[in-house]
Amino acid sequence: MTLQAKTDDEGAILNIAADLVKLGLRRDDTVLVRCATKSMTVQVANRPGALLDGIRRVIGPGGTIVALAFTDDFYFWQRKRALQSPFHAKAPAGTGALPQMLLDNPLSIRSLHPTNSFVALGPNARLIVEGHNEKSTSFYPIEKLMQLGGKLALIGCVESSPGFSTVHRVQEDLGLADRTLLSGLRLCAVRQEKSYRWFFRRDIPGCSAGFGKFYSEYEQEGILSRGSVGGALSMLADAAAAYRVERRILEKDPTAAFCDDPSCTSCGMRTYSPNRMRRFFLSLPKKAANRVAAKFR
Ligand SMILES: [Zn+2]
Repeated sequence: MTLQAKTDDEGAILNIAADLVKLGLRRDDTVLVRCATKSMTVQVANRPGALLDGIRRVIGPGGTIVALAFTDDFYFWQRKRALQSPFHAKAPAGTGALPQMLLDNPLSIRSLHPTNSFVALGPNARLIVEGHNEKSTSFYPIEKLMQLGGKLALIGCVESSPGFSTVHRVQEDLGLADRTLLSGLRLCAVRQEKSYRWFFRRDIPGCSAGFGKFYSEYEQEGILSRGSVGGALSMLADAAAAYRVERRILEKDPTAAFCDDPSCTSCGMRTYSPNRMRRFFLSLPKKAANRVAAKFR
């Protein structure tokens, strides 16, 4: 890399850091970041790297960055495929470049939940990932994040992968996460020293395509900060405050987080909503017909 390119990247990183401060990120923060850096318009060689650098500049050595380092799961009849991508401590994250960069950092710590591992870097990292394993629910670390006064950031994924992960924790706390016909049907292989064992999922966090519906509620409560980071639409909120809003809504109506696609398997298999399940099964013939029609197009 030339000196000029380095200087340009440095400028871009400083701009990203300034954007993050404007959004509400502060020194020593613990922050869970979800991002789609392809939405950033900033000109740098490595956008995920620049975003990560920008975050670390703002939070400093006393801050902790957390990301989702999820890995694949499969239906129980897909064991052959499951064996081809088993979970292990070094399994690549299916959740993008930034989580992968954190995993690649030798100072980061990854939790041991076989499908929904979290990765964290900073002084609170151990506390965040501790106890998150196959015996806990998928979003258990959110509890720790809230206890630590942590924040949630969405960078560039506000529309493409909407919502805060606290919604999943609310679903767990309200006993909704395992009330699905998919419970026990999905699995992954966990690599051990010389063999594999099967992890069957009981709680299924499921579809988050409808989580954008909460944005206006956060706004009404005055807990949502909107802005632009590296040219990408971004949001930030205090995790515990977001959780309180989501919990109040889901306590009244557990279906409020569902997406709008009647053929969505994840939302349609929830046993606490017979109406939605009926719509799901009624949508199946049309879905199958569309598939056949698409083949002949
Ligand atoms: Zn859905």
